[in-house]
Amino acid sequence: LTYNKTHIFSVDLESLYTTSYYNGCKKNIELCNIKKPTYDLLNLFECKEIKVTFFVLGRIAEEEPFLIKEISRRGHEVASHGYSHKPLNSLTPREFEQEIIKTNNLIQEITGLKVKGFRAPFFSLNNDSAWAIDILKNHGFLYDASIFPMKTPRYGIYNSQDNFYKISSKDISVNCNESSLLEFPHSLFKFGNFKIPCAGGIYSRFIPYMPLKHMLKNIEKERVINFYTHPWEFENIHNIKTKLPAYKKFLAHYNSKNHLKKIEKLVADFTFTSFEKFIDENIFF
Ligand SMILES: [Zn+2]
Repeated sequence: LTYNKTHIFSVDLESLYTTSYYNGCKKNIELCNIKKPTYDLLNLFECKEIKVTFFVLGRIAEEEPFLIKEISRRGHEVASHGYSHKPLNSLTPREFEQEIIKTNNLIQEITGLKVKGFRAPFFSLNNDSAWAIDILKNHGFLYDASIFPMKTPRYGIYNSQDNFYKISSKDISVNCNESSLLEFPHSLFKFGNFKIPCAGGIYSRFIPYMPLKHMLKNIEKERVINFYTHPWEFENIHNIKTKLPAYKKFLAHYNSKNHLKKIEKLVADFTFTSFEKFIDENIFF
């Protein structure tokens, strides 16, 4: 492996209503528009000449085919985030396989390209849903990015690898050389015995830029940074009335007004690419 400090940036393309904050809320049409924040991101990537990976939800590919086409036309990788955004352990293996086939067909019809990567909704891959690994392999996937290598109240697993490895359904947390599927776990900052999530989502929205940069620079010394975000994290919707409890609104929207500026600094301070380009350039089977 030649590690040249190029990192991976991905966007999970989904609406606010797939999140745990808005789950079950009555839909407000103003909050459903993912085009504006997605185009803001696309324009930023174009300006900085970065190609990233978009994990697209099948439902969104159905609703917004032109947006998916534009993402692909601009040279970004389009990968799969499943169809319904249900966590893996709430699906049967058969239901999961149907979601995978449906989403792959939708994406391939729009982009004309084969889908290589998958990210489970809510980082929901764990040893109870390890059967998903074999289904991904059977459908020709090259990589997965669904593991959160730390236990949180909602997701994650204990004692997983820090860096990318070959994953098998026997034990998802150990390297298996015979496996054809690469796993890219989420990146965590380590401080003594503590692990602190920082590389994306709610974590990078809450941590101010200077400490965030420090944590990521620290990760960079040893391994690749696997950074992710969502279009809804850039929606500045504080004025829109929702019936959401105040704490959920706070968690969903804190700092969203300034988040694009933070991402702009981030992509200036670190070198990012897509999963497929990272694999092409760094991993030799
Ligand atoms: Zn998601």
